[in-house]
Amino acid sequence: MQSTRFLAIENILSNQDSSSSIKETYTGTELYNTLVFDDRAKKKYLIKQAYESLLQAVVKGEPIDRKSADFIANGMKNWAIDNGATYFTHWFQPLTGKTAEKHDSFFEVFPFSEPVNELSGKALIQQEPDASSFPTGGLRSTDSARGYSVWDPSCPPFIMEIGLGKTLCIPAIFISYTGESLDLKTPLLKSAHFLEQASKEVCKFFDETVERTFINLGWEQEYFAVDEGLFNARPDLVLCGRTLFGSPSARGQQFEDHYFGSIPRRVFNFMIELEQEALKLGIPIKTRHNEVAPSQFEFAPHFELVSIATDHNQLLMDIMDRIARKHKLRVLLHEKPYNGINGSGKHNNWSISNDKGQNLLEPGKDPLNNLQFLTFYINIVKAVHTYADLLRASIANIGNEHRLGANEAPPAIISLFSGDYLRSIIDDFLHDRTQSQKQSNSIALNVAKISEVQIDTTDRNRTSPFPFTGNKFEFRAVGSSVNVSNPMTVLNTIVGDQLVHFKKEVDRLMENGVEKTSAIKQVLRRYIKEAEPILFDGDNYSKEWIEEAERRGLSNIKTTAEALQVYLRKEVVDLFSRNSVLSEAELKSRYNVFLEEYIKKQELEAVLCVELAQMHYVPAAITHQNNLITNYKGLAEIGLKQQAEIVKPQIEKISQHIESIFALSKQVETTLQEADGIHDEYKKALVLAKEIKPKIEDIRANVDSLETVVSDNLWPFPKYRELLFIQ
Ligand code: ADP
Ligand code: MG
Repeated sequence: MQSTRFLAIENILSNQDSSSSIKETYTGTELYNTLVFDDRAKKKYLIKQAYESLLQAVVKGEPIDRKSADFIANGMKNWAIDNGATYFTHWFQPLTGKTAEKHDSFFEVFPFSEPVNELSGKALIQQEPDASSFPTGGLRSTDSARGYSVWDPSCPPFIMEIGLGKTLCIPAIFISYTGESLDLKTPLLKSAHFLEQASKEVCKFFDETVERTFINLGWEQEYFAVDEGLFNARPDLVLCGRTLFGSPSARGQQFEDHYFGSIPRRVFNFMIELEQEALKLGIPIKTRHNEVAPSQFEFAPHFELVSIATDHNQLLMDIMDRIARKHKLRVLLHEKPYNGINGSGKHNNWSISNDKGQNLLEPGKDPLNNLQFLTFYINIVKAVHTYADLLRASIANIGNEHRLGANEAPPAIISLFSGDYLRSIIDDFLHDRTQSQKQSNSIALNVAKISEVQIDTTDRNRTSPFPFTGNKFEFRAVGSSVNVSNPMTVLNTIVGDQLVHFKKEVDRLMENGVEKTSAIKQVLRRYIKEAEPILFDGDNYSKEWIEEAERRGLSNIKTTAEALQVYLRKEVVDLFSRNSVLSEAELKSRYNVFLEEYIKKQELEAVLCVELAQMHYVPAAITHQNNLITNYKGLAEIGLKQQAEIVKPQIEKISQHIESIFALSKQVETTLQEADGIHDEYKKALVLAKEIKPKIEDIRANVDSLETVVSDNLWPFPKYRELLFIQ
């Protein structure tokens, strides 16, 4: 029987053009928000009272009374039905990192009357999914199953079309019977609200009339695309989302020709269909391109409010998977699907703006005399310095454990890149100069017909986990597969807390008679000196930086378990509870859920690794070895003794690898059994990370080495060159 590997390759060659599902092209403005209950739809479908009440809820966070809720629900339902939806669901984000939905029909039958399509205010506001089926990290026992999903009016409802069905999806938060949050969205909303308030108060130092601030997020989603047949022929990709085996392809990313290169046709068609769907759902996709590694790509939308951007990233990951299947592709969102080439991240471009249309992180032409910019910039630097370990915790997961510190990825050390220009501005500020020593400039190119170019205030540093990129920060260390709520909640909270603290310090100085500007400068200067160690503009991947960071006292937390433990530190518990973002119990529950997820996935990888090695790779190697033995004997039989000896080392080499694989597999199995008996989850996670993981890497090394000697037609699963280069 032909192996799935060769069947898959054969199928690709006969694959039909996947563009058939796209009939026409549309411009973004035609498609944008057509499946979203946006302002246009609200105006059309809501009576004035309902519209106003919803607006107040969105803008000011005011509660919606029952009567208005009934009106809103009715209008929303009519809009949904006019657009072909027959069911509705609360759409929420449990601690699994995925989205959840439970569909209910609009259709209602009542005794003695005609059936109707209905959505009541009560049903709009509140649903009751079974909380016991979602991870709670010990917040509640399984017998007390009540959990509520509650409508979040700040994020717009949308219609999801899957196959034949269209469903009205109503963004919601998810809480327990006792009011604790069981999702990722609730703390995100709380943290954004907290930071809005804190930054508004600080803005008032510079402009009394500022009434609102906004937290913005523009994510960049990296991913790999792979042919569906090849994907299905790789059990490790199917079950773990990454390759547990695979010898590097002779061609990797060394030619550096994939980045921004022309996009392969099938992937391009997938991208176009995805963009169209995304635009309809209100995700303002703006950029698509090849990434650095072969078969790696990226999407990025225009930035939005952090809560909406988070919904949109979740939604995008969801539709990416679905649309990829239509094109017989699979997207890999894993942080490190392939060894030896780049992993994927989700760069989180983050900024704060205000109701005057100002980006508070815009340095402007004269940043040295832009005290508002310096205030926000320096406070963020200070927050990152104080809570670097917490930022590290916020991006900890099993996938990122492979990525941090690996090829072309930020290390596990958190540092902040500011660039030469800002460094010199900060130096001028520390020395109380009024004129900056260094000019932000333009360069005359001296190329005929090409105009002069404006140079950004910062260069780029692709190695920094947290660079300042001109007028925003870019949290680059976030993993490609995750829900961004968690890192964003942490960032919002630490910066908000820092701003509250800053304001108190300045107020205190002013009460003691110090003039406002001097007070602000005095506090900022101290902060910059205290936070100095976090600033690093050099190559984060270099060995020297690891040593230098250690001298500076910066942490380098390598394992997920150790990083997650930061959530339990007293100062972290205090930080979240004093700002009402997460209670101690909620924080602990998250720690438990994240740790458990790590353990389960690491165990799965270990079990699968042993299974694939013993049941698939070793048998292939043995078949090959038997062929060699036959060859050896045959040569000897016909008197070619010397020639037979040439084959012998190969036979021996295969035996050595097989021996190592069996020995390592035994050790993995024994250690897994021992780990099973460890009740302390933290210790168990460490055993998995520090004892089992290196062993499965060793098994891999042996199998990968076999891959280079075993006859190609015996190799059971698609090789790297096939996964990465056949498109
Ligand atoms: P890059 O230079 O990194 O490619 P882009 O300008 O393409 O950056 O933007 C990358 C992401 O950053 C996009 O999602 C974009 O909307 C977002 N972005 C741009 N400006 C801001 C800002 N002020 N705040 C938040 N995100 C922003
Ligand atoms: Mg970027």
